[in-house]
Amino acid sequence: MSKLCQGPSCHMYDTTDRKRGPKGNKVNQTRTVGRYGYGEGNFCTLNCQNDWWKEHGTRAVEYIGILRERKVMLPENSWSKRQSYRWEDDGHVATYYYRNMCTTEERPLTEAQYNDSTYTLNTGE
Ligand SMILES: [Zn+2]
Repeated sequence: MSKLCQGPSCHMYDTTDRKRGPKGNKVNQTRTVGRYGYGEGNFCTLNCQNDWWKEHGTRAVEYIGILRERKVMLPENSWSKRQSYRWEDDGHVATYYYRNMCTTEERPLTEAQYNDSTYTLNTGE
């Protein structure tokens, strides 16, 4: 079954794909998320995501936990994965590397390390 859009006002946007029912008695219904779901696949459009946020966002942040202390960027938490492309005779070649946003140091990465979401040089939050 397709997942429904979680936008609280999704059914209030007047588009033809939301209309259901017999001629003369059509009603607008909540859409399904569709293949380009927004907000991690919970909303059909950014408008619906924003509507949800307006209605529930503050409560969601409070439920997850309010940030009470500033976070700080340090050398041990500022490694960022990067890729660059260059063209050669047989097509483009990708190079992968880590760049430290604090120190500007760069270290090479393999493609597998680049694509591995668990691989990191960062040791702090
Ligand atoms: Zn929606």
